[in-house]
Amino acid sequence: MQYQGKAIKVRALDGGVAELCFDRDGDSVNKFDQLTLGELQQALTLLAGTSGLRGVLITSAKPGYFIVGADIGEFGALFRRGEQALLASLASANAIFNALEDLPAPSVCAINGSALGGGLELCLAADARVLASEARIGLPEVKLGINPGFGGTVRLPRLIGVDNAVEWICGGKEFRADAALRVGVVDAVVTSAGLREAALDLLGQCMGGTLDYAARRREKTQPVLLNDIERMMAFTTGKSVVAAQAGPNMPAPLTAAKSMEKSVGLARAEALAVESKFFARLAMGNESDSLIGLFLNEQAVAKKARRLEESGRKVARAAVLGAGTMGGGVAYQSASCGVPIVMKDIATKGIELGLREAGKLLAGQVDRGRMSATAMAEVLRGITPTLDYDDFDGVDFVVEAVVENEGVKQRVLAECEDRVGPDAILASNTSTISITRLASALKRPQNFCGMHFFNPVHRMPLVEVIRGERSSEAAIATTVAYARQLKKTPIVVRDCPGFLVNRVLFPYFGAFNALLRDGADFREVDRVMQKFGWPMGPAYLLDVVGIDVAHHAAGVMAAGFPERMTIGFRTALEVLFEAGRFGQKSGSGFYRYEQDRRGKQVKQVDPEAQALIAPVCGTAREFSEQEIVERMMVPMCNELVRCLDENIVDSAGEADMALVMGIGFPLFRGGALRYMDHMGLEAFCAAADRHAGIAAVYAVPESLRQRARDGRRFYS
Ligand code: NAD
Repeated sequence: MQYQGKAIKVRALDGGVAELCFDRDGDSVNKFDQLTLGELQQALTLLAGTSGLRGVLITSAKPGYFIVGADIGEFGALFRRGEQALLASLASANAIFNALEDLPAPSVCAINGSALGGGLELCLAADARVLASEARIGLPEVKLGINPGFGGTVRLPRLIGVDNAVEWICGGKEFRADAALRVGVVDAVVTSAGLREAALDLLGQCMGGTLDYAARRREKTQPVLLNDIERMMAFTTGKSVVAAQAGPNMPAPLTAAKSMEKSVGLARAEALAVESKFFARLAMGNESDSLIGLFLNEQAVAKKARRLEESGRKVARAAVLGAGTMGGGVAYQSASCGVPIVMKDIATKGIELGLREAGKLLAGQVDRGRMSATAMAEVLRGITPTLDYDDFDGVDFVVEAVVENEGVKQRVLAECEDRVGPDAILASNTSTISITRLASALKRPQNFCGMHFFNPVHRMPLVEVIRGERSSEAAIATTVAYARQLKKTPIVVRDCPGFLVNRVLFPYFGAFNALLRDGADFREVDRVMQKFGWPMGPAYLLDVVGIDVAHHAAGVMAAGFPERMTIGFRTALEVLFEAGRFGQKSGSGFYRYEQDRRGKQVKQVDPEAQALIAPVCGTAREFSEQEIVERMMVPMCNELVRCLDENIVDSAGEADMALVMGIGFPLFRGGALRYMDHMGLEAFCAAADRHAGIAAVYAVPESLRQRARDGRRFYS
């Protein structure tokens, strides 16, 4: 008995035991791609036909990984073949997993590392499981907008009870070994070193009859008998909890619960058919396409950043100029990630503010038990506050985060360039000012680029790395490397006013101002856009960003793109700015803010704001939700297409990732370009044309019209 595939090897051990080992050639992990499934079928056929087989040990040869799940890269092509083809493919995968469950001898999995999705479902089809103590397992399918498809919703409830299975499957979390043992997903947890021996021992118990594996199989393949109370607890209560947690836009968790509710009283074959039907329904929907698309975009973005990072230099000591909101955040993040940083300001008050901000964030970590007081002190020691350049000799990377003023920034950058070594990289955190123009003040413009963080720095994952006309590849690579040292996701974009994210955000704010001018109620616009999926509506977002900041940036954007972004009317934004209502920071903007007992800013409706902006708002009139959504979204989408056309961003995947990570574009829509794909480009153009009279930002770019005519999409 011997099998040698590209992903699976089978060999005979002593005493009639066979080892089936997952070991994908040329990969650091195992996954269930079509090739692996095909080989598993062959290996199981071989084992089933082996006379004298007494037991099967299932292992992985990849350190830290058992099987990480299905090959998500294959999903798109598989799902596009349509529901019937998908159901056929699920049926053949289920037949393979059933063949494992029905082997003429017992099987035990030695789970040495991550067993996720299909990887864990394989383990559930085996008779027993031993888990390495540091491994994590789970069924995260709902996070991709689907439910388990290889029998997870059938076997798990039978193994650990319906209520636990609802938690494991509908929450989509990864669980640690102790949690897995507690609910009975695994039979034992041991150290990695003792894993093989423990799994062989358990197999011996199955073979010797101490563990009745046949009874387990019966239990796993028969209907679960629930009384009315159990059924109500698990499903009626369970489903409402699941629905509340997932929210209205994520159908997968609730669908997975419904699938279990329907299948739990059925025997294996019928139950698996139910699971497949629900899986196919989700797989044909836009949400799974978006979430799977984002997963793949994220991988592509990370791969590109890793490649760039390799050619860059690792930063040993950084500096930040300006200890304000952003400078303080950068200092905190750098020191927390183990890169010591000098924090310079011109005012002691600024320094105090920056340090206080960092201290507050760290104290929060200590309070939540995520950090010790000693570690906190260590991080704070990593920040060197200063009012001069004396400590700048040994610095190899500088983030400039002083006030948003071109003259001040040019002066500060030039001053700093004279004080650092010739190879040090300087990067500006400007939100809007041209990197190429800032570089004109420098002697070594090749060592300069943009590094645009988002507020709050410690929480927002995106960093735009901006390539100015004279930025060298080395400057870009080192900035990418530093962003990764700070555990951020860098996306490299080309220089233009607003770069990528703010360039597409300001037409959206422009659309908002125009809606108010035409008589829309800002609270209604907020409600509709939140329902669309944004974390907050545009009025609230402007209050969070800062009315003053947005007002200033809107001016810069208008100067940068006068033909589209000049706003030819007096806006509510201007009125609030002039009234000193700067948003959350000043206690009022579109809304009024009060601190709750935990110090959180809570927004309140404020009749004063309404009265203040009334003169610039048209006669109140009703807008349909569709009209509000179209009027808000078209300018943003059009502008993003222009950014692609002008190569401001390299790919659709990076553009969508930037919007999701930078401004919270709704995850289940997968980004603006995928949203347009789902809407249909013809339909999008028609919607834009309906509003073409409002302003130039509604004019459909010619490339988009052509793409629509050609029947092409942004994602093929
Ligand atoms: P801020 O006003 O909070 O901080 C600016 C700090 O710079 C102040 O402490 C000031 O004393 C200091 N400063 C001024 N001149 C200086 C000099 N010559 N040398 C050293 N320090 C000097 O501003 P902020 O919100 O932190 O913004 C800083 C930069 O980051 C701006 O370019 C802004 O556009 C950009 N940005 C801001 C946000 C945001 O949401 N706040 C987001 C992304 C980018």
